[in-house]
Amino acid sequence: MGKTIIVSNRLPVKIIQENDKYSYTPSEGGLATGLGSIYQEGDNLWIGWPGLEVTDPAQQKEVIDELKPLRLLPVFLDQEEIKEYYEGFSNEILWPIFHYYASIFTTYQQSNWDFYQQVNNKFKEAVLSVAEPGDTIWIHDYQLLLLPGMIRAEQADLTIGFFLHIPFPSYEMFRLIPWRTELLEGMAGADLVGFHTYDDVQHFLNAATRILPVNSHSNIISINDRQIVAEAFPLGIDNQKFAGLTKTPEVQEQIDLLKENFKDYKVILSVDRLDYSKGILQRLQAIELLLELHPEYIGKIVIYMIVVPSRDTVPQYKKLRDEIDKRVGNINSLYRTMDWTPILYFYRSFAVETISALYSMAHIGLVTPMRDGMNLVSKEYVASRVQNNGVLILSEMAGASKELLDAIIVNPNNIGDITRAIVKALSMPESEQKHRMAQMRELVSKFNVYHWVKIYMEKLKEVKQMQMTMKSRHVDQQVADKIKIRYDEAKKRILFLDYDGTLVGFQTNINQASPDEKLYQLIESLTADEKNEVVLISGRDHQKLDEWFGHTNVHMISEHGAWQKSKNQQWKSIRGLNDLWKADILPILHTYVDRTPGSFIEEKSFSLVWHYRKAQKGLGELRANELINNLVYLTKDRGLQLLPGNKVIEIKNIEVNKGKAALSRLYLEDYDFVFAVGDDHTDEDIFKSLPEAAYTVKVGSTVSTARFYVRNPEEVRSFLTKLSGSTK
Ligand code: UDP
Repeated sequence: MGKTIIVSNRLPVKIIQENDKYSYTPSEGGLATGLGSIYQEGDNLWIGWPGLEVTDPAQQKEVIDELKPLRLLPVFLDQEEIKEYYEGFSNEILWPIFHYYASIFTTYQQSNWDFYQQVNNKFKEAVLSVAEPGDTIWIHDYQLLLLPGMIRAEQADLTIGFFLHIPFPSYEMFRLIPWRTELLEGMAGADLVGFHTYDDVQHFLNAATRILPVNSHSNIISINDRQIVAEAFPLGIDNQKFAGLTKTPEVQEQIDLLKENFKDYKVILSVDRLDYSKGILQRLQAIELLLELHPEYIGKIVIYMIVVPSRDTVPQYKKLRDEIDKRVGNINSLYRTMDWTPILYFYRSFAVETISALYSMAHIGLVTPMRDGMNLVSKEYVASRVQNNGVLILSEMAGASKELLDAIIVNPNNIGDITRAIVKALSMPESEQKHRMAQMRELVSKFNVYHWVKIYMEKLKEVKQMQMTMKSRHVDQQVADKIKIRYDEAKKRILFLDYDGTLVGFQTNINQASPDEKLYQLIESLTADEKNEVVLISGRDHQKLDEWFGHTNVHMISEHGAWQKSKNQQWKSIRGLNDLWKADILPILHTYVDRTPGSFIEEKSFSLVWHYRKAQKGLGELRANELINNLVYLTKDRGLQLLPGNKVIEIKNIEVNKGKAALSRLYLEDYDFVFAVGDDHTDEDIFKSLPEAAYTVKVGSTVSTARFYVRNPEEVRSFLTKLSGSTK
């Protein structure tokens, strides 16, 4: 088994420079703790920027040597790179857009993008300098969106995971970025793309399938013939650390002190990094409204507000800081009394022991970000409530709100909502507090950071396994050679060939998909071999098939089996079929055509088809689902079958089925080589009905009961050409 390499923008270490000497202390963020269980084992390591500028090569060498025993490999960035890649592209373009702050702050600087590529490339070099075949690379966060693709391009077989720690925005937001395609291609280099929430996954799938030429099937995206998976893995915390901290003598002492100081008040705690996405100003508005509407709380509550300095070189952050200062000052000056101040505001960071003491003694945790990928503060507050009391007020815009359902959930844009939530929290009976907190504690305990690492890594392995299985099913040169040997040995063969999407590609106009000269030659060479029976098995109407292939030596099965024609004979339909049901179904289909521009109805003898290939993407699928729901009972009562196909919904008599039709041909003779190729749901009936030894091949998507797959009609043709080519 290979090693695991963690990659993130920042290394989990603090480097302190004194004179010319550096000293190092591991940082203890939640993520570093969780991933500690990985990078400190075996030959594993963590790659990232150490957090300070070292330009002198001799000093760089020194840092590299010093960090080696900590299993850290530094990537050195110069001032300009930090400014353009980190502060510019990452924090002034990606961060705001991904947090839905596009229009106000975002300017798209070409130089930011150039450096973003350059630095991602630098990280790639660092990874490739240590990665070996069989290794697993786990890349973190929005600063390195291009890295998975860059590594994949050079080392195609590595296992690469990616996790995004901030929200993935909806398609409408994401599409604004000039370099959206490159960013998605970068992410798609990973085998498993992880997000905090289901919504993020959906947004990513939506953006990827609209912007890239890829297909998706539930949460699997097929890129050429590589399958990648997008899935939600909500990040957890080290809950035991936070529960344990509250019992240490140091924290206990601080708790006692705080309790004594605030014994006459209910304490509302808020802890955030300075960021406009945290909703700090809106929270202050809610507090102001509370004091205005509920003077009974004056002198009874204290808001303990910690804002941790962050990104203060960015102008918007500086401005935000000034505004917070101003608003806190306003509120305090309006409401303070001789011996009471409503808001105790701190603009600095604190030791984890102090944070723990505050979590532990505050009656209310007030966490109201406008957007937050996860939000760990809310989970840390819960984990610290070892007595099971206290109330968490949590914004619905934080990823954590999808898990902490027993919090009081608020819309952070609705100031009144936050104010009401505070009132509710202040008056919540202890029994209800305990009931809610216990449930949340259980969840935070089970889905802790170690669990997160474990399930992510397991899934990554599973995805790799799935890719290997898929790969072995692809009809590549090797597989084709093997099948060719069996073909040559066989005495009597039957080949079932679907037409649209299999022998020819799809056209927006169905009548344009007529056979070309090359295809006729292929059919000719296959049918010229007297050991072969070639059966064209299509959903098309029999008139059309007859027009195209009547003069060749193929057998034909049309309309999914409603009609059959052996070579040199007449068309026959299955006996006992009727089409009286059409009168009931047609009017319904017409309403869908009227409501869905670009869709149309195709009428065959024993079936009706609603096509939506030309309809607006998304609308077609929506209407197709509606139509299925609409018809499901109606068709059941009338002995009909609803068949969703490739951008079509077909309604047909239940007896009509490609599988049945194929079998009726198969039993006419004793074949020792059975082959079938097709591209949609209706062909699955053939694959399922044929004996196990048959060579069944699916075109395009890899999700199928067929034993093998090819990528497109071109591959079908070249494979059939290979079969028909004589080797003896
Ligand atoms: N935190 C800290 N120092 C402080 C206050 C808080 O390191 O003075 C930590 C806090 O414990 C939490 C993290 O900062 O683990 C904030 O994480 P969160 O997901 O809530 O927000 P982010 O800053 O990642 O957007």
